[in-house]
Amino acid sequence: MHPTIEKLIANGAVVTDGAWGTQLQARGLAIGEFPDAWNLTHPRFVGEVARAYVNAGSRVILTNTFGANRVRLAENSLADRVVEINQRGVEISKIAVAGKAMVFASIGPTGKLLLNGEITPAEIQSAFEEQATALAQGGADAIVVETMADIEEAKLAVAAARTTGLPVVACMVFDSGKNLDRTMMGTTPEQAAQELSEAGADVIGANCGQGISRFLSICQRLRAATDRPVWIKPNAGLPQLENGRAVYAGTPADFADQATDLIAAGAKFIGGCCGTSPEFISAICRRIAG
Ligand SMILES: [Zn+2]
Repeated sequence: MHPTIEKLIANGAVVTDGAWGTQLQARGLAIGEFPDAWNLTHPRFVGEVARAYVNAGSRVILTNTFGANRVRLAENSLADRVVEINQRGVEISKIAVAGKAMVFASIGPTGKLLLNGEITPAEIQSAFEEQATALAQGGADAIVVETMADIEEAKLAVAAARTTGLPVVACMVFDSGKNLDRTMMGTTPEQAAQELSEAGADVIGANCGQGISRFLSICQRLRAATDRPVWIKPNAGLPQLENGRAVYAGTPADFADQATDLIAAGAKFIGGCCGTSPEFISAICRRIAG
């Protein structure tokens, strides 16, 4: 196991952060606006989100770099700012946490499909290597490959992240299929655990998805299929649209109850995805402390 990860989980499960998008929206990010650009234009607000999660008890904070690969930046006329947006993203989180949490840098999907030839493996690999290198140069403690639907893209991202020598977390979204236990492309938790472990990920996990109630069996299945620590960041629930905004029915107390079950089932990292907030994270921390 990577020494950074081993040390971090030595005394039990580690609480990570919750959603960033909704926190940035609460600070004025418009729906449909590209969040990663705020590293350049609104760094203070981005830092506030990181600090809110540290104050809530998160020991691992991510970065506002989920979409900051060359492919997605090009769609937002920011292709020439890859290095700057990623380095700033890490720096903003590092300054905000002030040594009270580790900074794991986020890499999300390109949004292009390998399956129909929209993008080649070489293009994906080079875009992720460019991003991962910038994140490492910014001072990231680890890299998190997250919200992946395609195991091939996830493996390319893991390979790219590994070139930095930093620990790598790899997680996918299991929200599809008859039992809602496969990725959009049909990969099961067992297949993901095996292939991502073979690709060299230090931590394997699941994030986003169909709400926390669906994560217990996914966590158990990942746990059984790999000896790597398991990372779980579920959505608060399924969103309902109200006045154009996604509203999640799950409450912090209910989420914290289920987070405890996930830790009991072997999750070594626990946090939240869409619909969660600092209140969810403090509820989990109180439950663990109690
Ligand atoms: Zn999510």
